[in-house]
Amino acid sequence: MEKIDPSAYRNIVFFTGAGMSAECGVPTYRGKGGIWNQYDYGEYACQKAFERDPEKVLRFHELRRRAVLDCQPHAGHRVVAGMPRSILVTQNIDGMHQRAGSMNVIELHGSLWRLRCDPCGSMREDPGDDYETLRCDCGNWLRPDITWFGDMLDESVMRMATEAIASCDLFISIGTSGSVWPAAGFPSLARDAGAFCIEINPEPSGAICYDLVIRGSASEALPSLFVS
Ligand SMILES: [Zn+2]
Repeated sequence: MEKIDPSAYRNIVFFTGAGMSAECGVPTYRGKGGIWNQYDYGEYACQKAFERDPEKVLRFHELRRRAVLDCQPHAGHRVVAGMPRSILVTQNIDGMHQRAGSMNVIELHGSLWRLRCDPCGSMREDPGDDYETLRCDCGNWLRPDITWFGDMLDESVMRMATEAIASCDLFISIGTSGSVWPAAGFPSLARDAGAFCIEINPEPSGAICYDLVIRGSASEALPSLFVS
């Protein structure tokens, strides 16, 4: 297999999706066996559900957190975390990259480990399995700082991701079908920037014509992708 020399690139962007986490055993949201086949997102993962029954929605997210804490990052996460001069853009909310040591992480859909209060604008990290508190100091219910169905993506986060990808020279897409907009536009943005584009995915995404396509799992492909 073709090996990549990371020292030949100045700005490396990793772009990861559900497939990266699924290998750890983290339940996926969409697709076969996904959470939304089992649970109705209208009951648990939209602003309306939260307004109707905030405690029920928060307890559901505690279950998600426990499911993630039962899993561990894999070898692919560690390769990404150890790559100098790289930025990571992820669709995942599970914090698995940070647990592997990644620092520059742009979380497109927020994080399971953060809560926010929309009425007063405050935000808090909450890393445990159960939430430390369900209420903000101002008295309102806290909501998970993640993108639910019907939510807009955070504009400043999108801008950071877009800028990173538009100025990268190596783009590595991992475990994402590239079908969910606006992130579906990222591969072509990298392509237009002139980046060398690699896809690691068991299923072909067909997003763009990649320079290198690896039909395999991230935990196996990433540790052997780079020259050491
Ligand atoms: Zn508040």
